[in-house]
Amino acid sequence: MSTDGPLPIATDALEACATCGSKSLNRSGRTEVVRAFDVTYPVGGGGYSQATYTFSADVPAAVCGACGAAYLSAEALAAGEYLITRELVARGVGGGAAAKWLRKSAGMTREGLAVLLGVGPERVAEWEQDRELVDRATLLILGDLALDAVEGRTRTLDRLRVVDTPPTDVVHVRAA
Ligand SMILES: [Zn+2]
Repeated sequence: MSTDGPLPIATDALEACATCGSKSLNRSGRTEVVRAFDVTYPVGGGGYSQATYTFSADVPAAVCGACGAAYLSAEALAAGEYLITRELVARGVGGGAAAKWLRKSAGMTREGLAVLLGVGPERVAEWEQDRELVDRATLLILGDLALDAVEGRTRTLDRLRVVDTPPTDVVHVRAA
């Protein structure tokens, strides 16, 4: 996650100020805006109109009582990332920047995603660099993979993996 302005240092510990060394860091209720990315992509199927979204999140910051430096914890950044992923999926946002964000939220490499989707590795790069439009089915799967990951599930991943598993000879199910 990157920001527009100076990026407050993300720290897990938040024990002392990295600027002045003061231990008087407090969670003052102040928030910092973390800009995730801008995405512009064609909408309406024909590709003649463009939609532009700017995704950003307000996340709580800890502020040094001595020098005023603001810090974001890794937890706060993760919370902001989760909320942005949720919004992306809920709004069905396509385009390369969104596809890249969703893949990273899913914790996958380009190669890993390509294998899972049964496409060549160069295909994922083409999507993410807006050289090829991400089709709806792929966008749906990407969104499910990302949401599952940030919400602690593996449902979509499991279902994609089983596609490559050789079938057994007989599948017998019994209705109760
Ligand atoms: Zn300080």
